[in-house]
Amino acid sequence: MKPTRRYALTVFLLLYVLLVHAQKDTAHYHGKIIDMHVHIAVMPGEENTMSGERNHTLANIRTYMAAANVEKAAIITIAQKGNMADTRQRNDSIIALSKKYPSLIPVCSVHPMDGADAFAEMERVHKQGVSIIKLHPNSQGFDVGAPEVASLAKKAGELHLVLLFDSYSPVDNNEIGKLIMLAAMNQDTRFIFAHMGLVNFPQLLTIEALKKYPWYKNNIWCDISAIAPVLGHSPFHDQLVWTIRTIGVDQFLFGSDYPVFNPADAIKSVHGMGFTRAEEQLLFYGNASRLLQQ
Ligand SMILES: [Zn+2]
Repeated sequence: MKPTRRYALTVFLLLYVLLVHAQKDTAHYHGKIIDMHVHIAVMPGEENTMSGERNHTLANIRTYMAAANVEKAAIITIAQKGNMADTRQRNDSIIALSKKYPSLIPVCSVHPMDGADAFAEMERVHKQGVSIIKLHPNSQGFDVGAPEVASLAKKAGELHLVLLFDSYSPVDNNEIGKLIMLAAMNQDTRFIFAHMGLVNFPQLLTIEALKKYPWYKNNIWCDISAIAPVLGHSPFHDQLVWTIRTIGVDQFLFGSDYPVFNPADAIKSVHGMGFTRAEEQLLFYGNASRLLQQ
């Protein structure tokens, strides 16, 4: 081959590779991210309790945020039953961190079985600017169908608080139904179902039926933490994406579930699900931004 022809071929191949790469890259959303599900260690010794691979210290979370273009992260603690001193200390730590670092969204917690004390704590953190309360039926050991949970959901609506509920129970197969009923009965309370029900996600299609009622205020959101890396590339992929689109992409939020999942993998798993760039923008940023401003 003549040198000029070889040169032209090299240039052509280089341009081709660059063009293909550019097309691939612009197919995905690479803007700022809001991570709606980040656990943070606030008590001594707590930092190595959730993952064998990474500690959920403030320093590690801030490093991850800078590396992955995460503009805001919702930092979560979980209250224990019957220990209000611990609950208040956890919540105060979360609030103090969010005041020091405005990129951290405070997610406080109460235990529904703490009754009036839990309500008082919700009021106290609400006055300090907190808008999200975390509840974890499985690890906190309560039944979503309990009357105390219904009272708490009503109270959250009065205070304009969002309830971030873990939505996967390995022991209560009816939990998704109970969560949906709770949201249906408390239209003024906004709910985020964390992990989108995980392996029980098809049950969330009941929301599609709720949407037909004139009184339904679209008060259910889901975060796709854990479910995206676990099921995003599985044989369930098509069902999962179809379920999200049927319920409405507008109601879904990105979360990494740091430190349980490698956040880079969590982001990559969403990129691999085949959403359009516009849908990815909503999942990674737009929807959370809208929810936080409501
Ligand atoms: Zn979690």
